Amino acid sequence: MCGIVGYAGRNRAAEELFEGLKKLEYRGYDSAGISTADRGEIFTVKRSGMVEGLAPLLKGLPGTVGIGHTRWATHGAANDANAHPHVCGAFSVVHNGIIENYAELREELTAAGHVFSSQTDSEVIAHLLDYYYDGDLADALRLTCARLKGCWAIAALCTHFDGFAVARRASPVILGEGEGYFAASDIYALIGRAHSYCVLEEGDIALVTHRGFTIYDCHLNPVSRQFEPLKGEKGEDGTGDCPHYMLKEIRQNARTMRATCRKFLSSVDRAALHSRLQNADKIVMVGCGTAYNAALAGVRLLGGAYDCPVSAHIASEARYDPPRVTDRSVCIAVSQSGETADTLKAAAICREAGAYLIAMTNVGYSAITRMAHKVLPVCAGPEVCVAATKSYIGQLTCFHLMSVALSPDKRAEWLLSAADDVAKIASCGEYAQVIARMCIDSRAVFFLGRGADVDVAVEGSLKLKEVSYIFSDGYPAGELKHGTLALVDESVLSVVLITDDGLAEKCKNAVEQILSRSGKVAVVTTLRQTYDELKDRVHAAWLLPPAPAHLSHFLTATALQLVAYHAAVLSGRNPDKPRNLAKSVTVE
Ligand code: GLU
Repeated sequence: MCGIVGYAGRNRAAEELFEGLKKLEYRGYDSAGISTADRGEIFTVKRSGMVEGLAPLLKGLPGTVGIGHTRWATHGAANDANAHPHVCGAFSVVHNGIIENYAELREELTAAGHVFSSQTDSEVIAHLLDYYYDGDLADALRLTCARLKGCWAIAALCTHFDGFAVARRASPVILGEGEGYFAASDIYALIGRAHSYCVLEEGDIALVTHRGFTIYDCHLNPVSRQFEPLKGEKGEDGTGDCPHYMLKEIRQNARTMRATCRKFLSSVDRAALHSRLQNADKIVMVGCGTAYNAALAGVRLLGGAYDCPVSAHIASEARYDPPRVTDRSVCIAVSQSGETADTLKAAAICREAGAYLIAMTNVGYSAITRMAHKVLPVCAGPEVCVAATKSYIGQLTCFHLMSVALSPDKRAEWLLSAADDVAKIASCGEYAQVIARMCIDSRAVFFLGRGADVDVAVEGSLKLKEVSYIFSDGYPAGELKHGTLALVDESVLSVVLITDDGLAEKCKNAVEQILSRSGKVAVVTTLRQTYDELKDRVHAAWLLPPAPAHLSHFLTATALQLVAYHAAVLSGRNPDKPRNLAKSVTVE
């Protein structure tokens, strides 16, 4: 998480860094800070809160070299003192990641006379650089990194060096060349300003000056890394006529389905993919959060299409309980950013055990694409809102096409027609606002369904929690009577999804059980008859366009994303930047 940027060029560094940080803010927004260097002096501003808070302070930052940071706190509160950069002696440092052995390093450095001014794990890096520096910044960084355990992307300024240094391990650092020389956690910070980029490899250290880059491996052997043109990547272009990115991105669900279909049909070797899946002894999926929820739908889709066992695993648990794969297994790693540390770790475990690794990701240059044998692109475009919406829809689209890998054309046709209905739902806020208001007025919200609706219920619940902070849970309607019914009363709302004719009667039983306990019920359905039967019995009913059961999750997911969005807005939250969260979760 967090964003780091660095700049060395001819322009004023403070402005360049500020612009870069604004692009990276979705990675963390607990605090922001910038250091610049000018004539052997370092100037630093930092404060808790959003990047915009730095705007009035920029004029105090001279120089054409600098580093910046937007924080997602892991160690130490989100206050001014813990904001990066951290300064010690001639050094100023920004860090993305976690230094696992910071406590022992801090003890050792304190015994050597160092005085710390923050509670962060990161501050030890500045002190270690000061401790090891002997006239050579790259060497001091090498010696410092050799003492660290955990994960890091580091950028460091030194008053004796006319530039800055970066290092990485398990957190991304991208170098960019344009009007000056840049480093950043993610390519979005470079778009529009760099014409080529390169992704540093594990353990790399680089020196960046007004004249260019010098890249070393972790032993300080000079290495050359491939620079690629930065043409194809599109930056996000504002919220358009929507008040928030979340709404804009939900409205891009249909476009995402269409683009993902097009890309799959035009670029995937379907026969090879089919044969790989057909001959697998098992298919395992790994992911976190929304990507894991998409994998739950993937299990149903691929489980119905292939004979082997198919399972989904929460990536953060996979290291303790790794999926038992062989060299005939296929592992599908699902990650919006392709940089999710837990997913990378789980994918690496499966790959090392021999599995064929497929990356399903929205970001083409990401770490997971470099690790995978094959990449299945999700074509959602940049997703800025921290809560994933269109990328989930893109992942579902990919799973649909994979499940008919040999002859996806018919399925693509159905998906494109479902996309038209998704577009209609996304443009209508009326019913979503009614249900959102009910969510706000409730002590808790349960999302219920049967069959494939359960997967969407789980994701709908996560979305509501993330952006509105209302307690919610998603689970199979049949489980109600096995425990959670105890919680139902007039202050609890149940949102019941019903999209499968064959399961509708059973779902109606759940509705009756809730109503009998004075619980509130909102029904979201694609079935006209179910709607007619229930609309006057329940507290709200939303009839979505009719859809075959196996495609209905695109419609219900879009509807529940809108409910979460309106619940956040109606309760005065910023849906794009939920508290305590960040996108691109690069810490384990
Ligand atoms: N662990 C560091 C901190 O809490 C960096 C977190 C980040 O990646 O933003 O300050």
